Amino acid sequence: MTEDCIFCKIVAGLAPCFEIARDDRALAFMDINPASPGHVLVVSTEHAADLHGLSPEGLAAAALMARRVAGAIQTVLAPDGINLIQANGPGAAQSVAHFHIHVLPRTMGDRLPINWLLSPGDRTAIGALAERLKAAL
Ligand code: AMP
Ligand code: ZN
Repeated sequence: MTEDCIFCKIVAGLAPCFEIARDDRALAFMDINPASPGHVLVVSTEHAADLHGLSPEGLAAAALMARRVAGAIQTVLAPDGINLIQANGPGAAQSVAHFHIHVLPRTMGDRLPINWLLSPGDRTAIGALAERLKAAL
């Protein structure tokens, strides 16, 4: 637990949340600033600021919990779609530095500002970046 981390406090029961599921490594609760009705956060019980610092077990547990939650959302709300979104760093608009996955119900035409228009990229540049990424894996 990290003292000044709101999600660590929620995991420890020291701050309130609308909990919907929990296991040893992941906790799912409602986002209090929902981008759409049914917006859920799945957090690792372990404190890690982001994807890079999270243990493989924490990541696996959060991913599996997110899928369970998405299934419940599909059953209960029957949205037109569901996004899983996970932000790392200020440039990705991460506002809480404790790993979490957003499970976000979507409605056709809701125009949530998280999507981008499809526009064809430069194949040479795409291929060059693929090579650089492959070399780093
Ligand atoms: P991000 O900006 O991707 O880091 O997402 C952080 C999310 O945490 C935002 O959607 C906030 O609304 C949500 N959030 C922050 N504090 C709380 C809290 N105490 N309970 C529930 N959700 C929270
Ligand atoms: Zn934390």
